[in-house]
Amino acid sequence: MRVWAVANQKGGVGKTTTSIALAGLLADSGKRVVVLDLDPHGSMTSYFGHDPDNLDHSVFDLFQHQGTVPDGLPWQLLLGTSHERISLMPSSTVLATLERQSPGQNGLGLVIAKSLSQLWQDFDYAIIDSPPLLGVLMVNALAASQQLVIPVQTEFLAMKGLERMVSTLSMINRSRKQALPYTIVPTLFDRRTQASMNTLKVLRAGYADHLWPAFIPVDTRLRDASRAGLTPSQFDPTSRAVLAYRALLKHLLASQVSPQVA
Ligand code: ADP
Ligand code: MG
Repeated sequence: MRVWAVANQKGGVGKTTTSIALAGLLADSGKRVVVLDLDPHGSMTSYFGHDPDNLDHSVFDLFQHQGTVPDGLPWQLLLGTSHERISLMPSSTVLATLERQSPGQNGLGLVIAKSLSQLWQDFDYAIIDSPPLLGVLMVNALAASQQLVIPVQTEFLAMKGLERMVSTLSMINRSRKQALPYTIVPTLFDRRTQASMNTLKVLRAGYADHLWPAFIPVDTRLRDASRAGLTPSQFDPTSRAVLAYRALLKHLLASQVSPQVA
């Protein structure tokens, strides 16, 4: 099983959309995918038609056993989605209470890694949608993954979130055996706006080594897909954004053969 985290310490940059678009394309190609919603807002959970305010069981349950994960528990938490090959480990609003705890305490930072190690035979890919805050959940997402995708909205103020994310990553890398490879993905790109063009220029100047050289365009079909509860490629396989996500997936799959060392 390959584990990818999608993270940025900023909201509204396309993390959830990117997680679902990539999961959908992997599943379309026959892969079995588990998506994990580690954001207490539960956008991914809602996207697939489950209510994060009213779930009896969620990813929160995994954190209730002093850093150990009982056999079979991760499996019991999985819910169905619109795609037969995508399972969802849902979020719930109680997840927010975890953010006050320290990830170092009782091995709390490795709960997701341990949970995924119970699912490796059942899935080819795990995609983790991360919260925008640095805390127990973000640490878990980064500790569990082999590849990090950082969506960056092409607008003013985008660089702050990216800088914060990259410094968080270097902190996390100190406690990992191998540096976590990452790919920056420009999102919500609108070539008519100065802000989009400028952000792309700044990214190319400062982060060329880790930058996916293309971008995800603004595409209203993505909002329509989320309203329908379908993955973007289920909703419209030839929309501009889906074509861009397809190119991104190809890039990520190619770079995972020879992971870059940061
Ligand atoms: P995050 O998870 O980082 O908070 P989301 O993926 O939820 O961000 O995206 C924020 C909003 O922008 C959502 O309403 C989503 O449908 C929309 N969105 C994301 N990417 C695009 C895009 N490329 N074009 C148009 N709308 C988008
Ligand atoms: Mg989100």
